[in-house]
Amino acid sequence: MKVGIVGSGPAALMAGSQYLLQGFEVSFYDHKKAPARKFLVAGHGGFNLTHSESKSDFLSRYDCDEIKKCVEIFDNQALIEWLKFIGIETYSGSTGKIFPVKGTKPIDVLNAWISWLKKQNATFSFEHKMIDFDSNSIVFQTISSEIKVNFDKIILALGGGSWSKTGSDAAWVELFKSKQIEVATLQSSNAGMNYQFKVSLDKLEGEILKNVVTSIGDFKKAGEVTLTNYGFEGAAIYHLNRSFRENPNLPLCIDLKPQWNDAQVLACLKSAKNNTAGLKKMKLSKAAIFLLKSETEKATFLVPESLALKIKKLCLKIESLRPMDEAISTSGGVSWNELESDLSLKKFPNIQLCGEMLDWDAPTGGYLLQAAIASGFCVGTIR
Ligand SMILES: Cc1cc2nc3c(=O)[nH]c(=O)nc-3n(C[C@H](O)[C@H](O)[C@H](O)COP(=O)(O)OP(=O)(O)OC[C@H]3O[C@@H](n4cnc5c(N)ncnc54)[C@H](O)[C@@H]3O)c2cc1C
Repeated sequence: MKVGIVGSGPAALMAGSQYLLQGFEVSFYDHKKAPARKFLVAGHGGFNLTHSESKSDFLSRYDCDEIKKCVEIFDNQALIEWLKFIGIETYSGSTGKIFPVKGTKPIDVLNAWISWLKKQNATFSFEHKMIDFDSNSIVFQTISSEIKVNFDKIILALGGGSWSKTGSDAAWVELFKSKQIEVATLQSSNAGMNYQFKVSLDKLEGEILKNVVTSIGDFKKAGEVTLTNYGFEGAAIYHLNRSFRENPNLPLCIDLKPQWNDAQVLACLKSAKNNTAGLKKMKLSKAAIFLLKSETEKATFLVPESLALKIKKLCLKIESLRPMDEAISTSGGVSWNELESDLSLKKFPNIQLCGEMLDWDAPTGGYLLQAAIASGFCVGTIR
């Protein structure tokens, strides 16, 4: 039985791996010149493959039951074991994030997986862009011609819509819509936020607010925020993207001294000779002091009581998320209403979908790769 897989990202690789283990003949196709470009990009600055936290905490990171179901079936432990199976050892960092052991580069992880696939006789065809499909065939645009290839089973793992240069250009969205397949609008996720500072950042571009707590509405995240000339970046910003998309009128609030309560902050300000000295005494960073000076009225800044409130809750009106192409991932994708429990399309039962092209969202930190790979596992195993 011939299985054709379009895409060569982590979701595709796992779906193909499972079909191969069951004795199917598997062929991968991708329009880039080489496999899994985004998987390699994700490895820049630390290849965070999954996270070691408990199952209930882990599942709470996802926004819909369907993807939670796949992550429950193929969880963080299963991914660690899979990596070991293809020859990649991992370790848990101090924050619980799982990385390949020191010295193992992202390309080593990819090469280990691809060489295992090739040993199982999987084939790879690059520079093949899927431009159409029907129940049993795919039309590819190659460098020289348009070809139609027939398969017994088709898997599409085309990714989301960020970092289009890696191949995930979301061109499939229009194709799917033309076939009356519902697609929830793709939007930036795990993206920076645009905010216009009242005073130019000048030399503070790139400064980091460390150990702060950000919030939008009831949703909070402890971590770091980087100041940029367009606004904010950093994990404590990315984790709030979903809250922002759901409530774009709510402000982003930052607790600049979460280790202290309101009374401690006020006492420190009052014990100093003036408020600027008080901020230094409580060891606020240059970036935090800049924000307080730039984003509060002078009258508020000069009064210890009102400044203390701002230190504990500085609220700023965010304009928008950064553009989709800059985002780490995209929310939205093929609607779950279009899919059966084995992730096959109701309109094309012979075609299964997996990965970021489905309508789910999660913060960065290993949760994206885990879900993409888990959905590939579900495609390859649920009948
Ligand atoms: C900068 C950055 C950092 C990241 N860091 C992390 C992290 O630390 N932890 C984490 O968990 N996740 C991270 N991610 C996210 C993670 O890389 C993605 O969620 C994951 O790669 C999605 O896998 P996928 O297989 O669904 O899609 P993709 O990896 O996007 O693969 C889709 C594939 O389909 C191919 N394709 C698309 N359309 C066509 C077509 N028409 N014809 C043929 N081929 C096509 C593409 O070329 C591509 O190879 C990061 C992403 C970025 C951009």
